Amino acid sequence: MSKYTVLRDYFGYTAFREGQEKLIDGILGYSDVLGIMPTGGGKSICYQVPAMLLPGITLVISPLISLMKDQVMGLKTAGIPAAYLNSSLSAAQQHRVCQNILAGAYKIVYVAPERLENFEFLNVCREVTVSLVAVDEAHCISQWGQDFRPGYLKIADFLEELPRRPVVAAFTATATDVVRQDIVRLLRLWEPLQVITGFDRPNLRYEVRIPKSKMPELISILSTRKNKSGIIYCMTRGNVEKVCEKLQAEGFPATRYHAGLSDEERRENQEDFLYDRSPIMVATNAFGMGIDKSNVAYVIHYNMPLSVEAYYQEAGRAGRDGSPADCILLYAPSDLYKAKDLLSHPSENHLLSEAEQEENLRRNYRRLDEMLDYCRTTDCLRGYILDYFGQPHAERCDHCGNCETNYTSTDITVEAKKILSCVKRAEDHLGYPVGKALIGRILLGSRDKRIIETGLDKLTTYSLLQDQSRARVSEMIDYLEMLGAISVDGNHGGATLTPIAREILFGEQKVIATFKPLPEKGKKKKQSAESKESAGASDEALYELLRNLRMQLAKEEGVPAYVIFSNQTLSDMAAKKPRSLLEFLDVSGVGQIKAQKYSEAFLEVIEAYLNSVE
Ligand code: ADP
Repeated sequence: MSKYTVLRDYFGYTAFREGQEKLIDGILGYSDVLGIMPTGGGKSICYQVPAMLLPGITLVISPLISLMKDQVMGLKTAGIPAAYLNSSLSAAQQHRVCQNILAGAYKIVYVAPERLENFEFLNVCREVTVSLVAVDEAHCISQWGQDFRPGYLKIADFLEELPRRPVVAAFTATATDVVRQDIVRLLRLWEPLQVITGFDRPNLRYEVRIPKSKMPELISILSTRKNKSGIIYCMTRGNVEKVCEKLQAEGFPATRYHAGLSDEERRENQEDFLYDRSPIMVATNAFGMGIDKSNVAYVIHYNMPLSVEAYYQEAGRAGRDGSPADCILLYAPSDLYKAKDLLSHPSENHLLSEAEQEENLRRNYRRLDEMLDYCRTTDCLRGYILDYFGQPHAERCDHCGNCETNYTSTDITVEAKKILSCVKRAEDHLGYPVGKALIGRILLGSRDKRIIETGLDKLTTYSLLQDQSRARVSEMIDYLEMLGAISVDGNHGGATLTPIAREILFGEQKVIATFKPLPEKGKKKKQSAESKESAGASDEALYELLRNLRMQLAKEEGVPAYVIFSNQTLSDMAAKKPRSLLEFLDVSGVGQIKAQKYSEAFLEVIEAYLNSVE
């Protein structure tokens, strides 16, 4: 059997993706490897294909026991003998798996790092040929990342306990230099072949929105994505609760996930999401690592994340099977204050010295600044992300919110001075800072009762911007807040000037604002990835029928729908409309075993559909 036969017969794919073949060849040539590939890049196949070609077993070390069951089910459905060994199994079940390993029943076994210290397991591993140890989410070994898992530090010792050292293959999507060096050093890799593939995910459409109010914006985004699965990330547990409750009250099938919930509830909610019983997940960043649900059609950030790296990872959980997907970030200047607050209370890491902790904090602030720039830029968003990872790219991608918007640049220095001095004068007049909305009304010359009664209409800045539209004035004030010239208190909403404001008022600093064109009434909105997908889909009606069948089969077998076929596979099936087993095998993602198992049911639906339209 060759690597190509394995790829075709078990996974149903005709060609390797970027980086996969190099890594597989490395492993088959008995070299340690380190693969750095974006989420959805196809890391699993890099160790699953060699596992089928090497003698004995492959151990996969993965941090999350809650996902192992589905991973193993996915392999079994494809005809690969696999098992997992973790604390969710009873002692008797664990013992049985060990006996089966000894009997040579599996090619791939998933374990959590803590298992490596288990005596029975170690003895079993000493008895059989362990050809390959694949370390998934290898960045968990580094204390510099968010996901540090002390158990990962034991892997190198475990390898030395084995009679023959297996090939070690480490994989991660997190690519900073420090983390990469930590992986090589702490896993004690032997001159590993390192492959870093591109970071671009062409099927993802990035967008930043700065809505006046986030909740209605979120609801409007979700309303156009009914029947789709998606993740909504919030910065805090409180926000998760609030957003999830509101969505449920509006009738959306949402569930939640954060570190404050019991293990039991987290597990249940995660399953509801994976099995599409609750296709919308509202979560903090505690959710997602290792989730390989391939049909996530959108990832929305309700708050700004703390770094571009984190954003890229989280947003990257959309569209893993290559289908078009949206990554939308809802930004508000108040996110910055919340983020700073979070960073100023870091959780203690006893493994780092005080100096190292300080250094970590400095880095975190720098990362936050870079994230803020992403939210504020009017340049290509994909380009911004690729720049961050040092990857060359075209100036525009023509497939992100910014490339699709005609921004206009306007010199608003004069208006900015009027706004800023109004902020100052209103505060001096009343003795406390006032909110942005009121500043806007003063500048527009409103006859509002409150303005007249408090004498704000006597300010020299009163009605100074009455020739402008209300929307533009409010946009300019927001822009000054984004620029950091005014700071708005998170509790009472009062606006005050910052040192940047002084430079604008008294220095030479010009303010060039970039605005989106004000919406023209009756004009249709740009197409999102989502609507493009349905417009361009081969045959929407057939796709729906195939989706229903998949759902029914998934229920019967008790597996998540994407374990049977990915959306991409269904989409290819709807386009190719196979009428025979041979044609069915031609669909991307259909291997021998899945074809044998499912061809009859799917071909029947396709046949009936074709007869009905002929
Ligand atoms: P990662 O672990 O890197 O995030 P996965 O291994 O889960 O990514 O793969 C993401 C998706 O891409 C899966 O649905 C997988 O089946 C698919 N995939 C992987 N390799 C290929 C390939 N060579 N051709 C087509 N699809 C592939």
